[in-house]
Amino acid sequence: MATLEINDLHARVAEEGGERILRGVDLTVNSGEIHALMGPNGSGKSTTAKVIAGHPAYEVTDGEILLHLDEEDVADVDVDLDDDDYHWNLLELEPNERAALGIFLGFQYPAEIEGVTMTNFLRQALNAKADEREELFEGDEADDADDEDDAGYDTSPMEGPADDGEIGVAEFQEILSEKMELLDMDEKFMQRYLNAGFSGGEKKQNEVLQAAMLEPVVAVLDEIDSGLDIDRLQDVSKGINALRDEQGTGILQITHYQRILDYVEPDHVHVMLDGKVAKSGGAELAEQLEADGYDWVREEAFADA
Ligand code: ADP
Ligand code: MG
Ligand code: MG
Repeated sequence: MATLEINDLHARVAEEGGERILRGVDLTVNSGEIHALMGPNGSGKSTTAKVIAGHPAYEVTDGEILLHLDEEDVADVDVDLDDDDYHWNLLELEPNERAALGIFLGFQYPAEIEGVTMTNFLRQALNAKADEREELFEGDEADDADDEDDAGYDTSPMEGPADDGEIGVAEFQEILSEKMELLDMDEKFMQRYLNAGFSGGEKKQNEVLQAAMLEPVVAVLDEIDSGLDIDRLQDVSKGINALRDEQGTGILQITHYQRILDYVEPDHVHVMLDGKVAKSGGAELAEQLEADGYDWVREEAFADA
């Protein structure tokens, strides 16, 4: 089991006089669990997601974000690991390193990239993750093995696409087919160009497919339910449940509305207010919020303070 552990996280906008947004977030997500992070607009939900991923717009001023891995999370790594390789301080790592360790943040699409199909995009994402993982876990050994001449120039021969631990086309297609079947997605999808003419719902489904391909230990999904009609909501929900059930991904589902939680039943529900998790509970908490709004949580939180 992997665990993402956030302790007393404070963050502000990374510019002079930047606003303090996160004011002591505590949140622990284990692989295989579904957590809903709810709260009114402006409470800091998206900022929490972006700070977990390492977004440069924010500066962490206090607290920590730790990732604890387990044997099964590093089964692909074929060097001897020491204890450090199981416990990571994410705040010391770049966004792509965090991703390589298994943190997924549904990324906003880059503006259309000319001529890149979904298939190629996913293959690049998978290979980038594999390369970064190799560097993180096997860095020392890989360095020793590098072919360098005395002046430090790399003299190794040019490498073809299937070298260097990269995933070959056939293997990739196999994984892709398996995941598309898991998510009940149409293969036609994959030949389409990135972002070109995808509907809102298709973009959200792509986000789930990306998560299925990358097999993260924790996936942070920010308002993946926004703007979906009921059919798409059900498709996307089915995919999210599959991520958890079939590959043990922990889900941090950020949502403004209770609606998706009818289809993706959370083990834990958290309410964010003013940059903090003000209250946590089980699935029944979401129903209570739906019925009564957030004011009572605020009153309760202030009463405690
Ligand atoms: P939520 O996702 O809960 O609606 P956000 O995390 O997006 O809330 O934003 C929380 C607060 O921080 C809001 O008041 C928002 O305007 C502010 N904020 C977030 N990001 C920035 C930024 N990059 N620059 C300035 N203010 C920001
Ligand atoms: Mg804690
Ligand atoms: Mg938001």
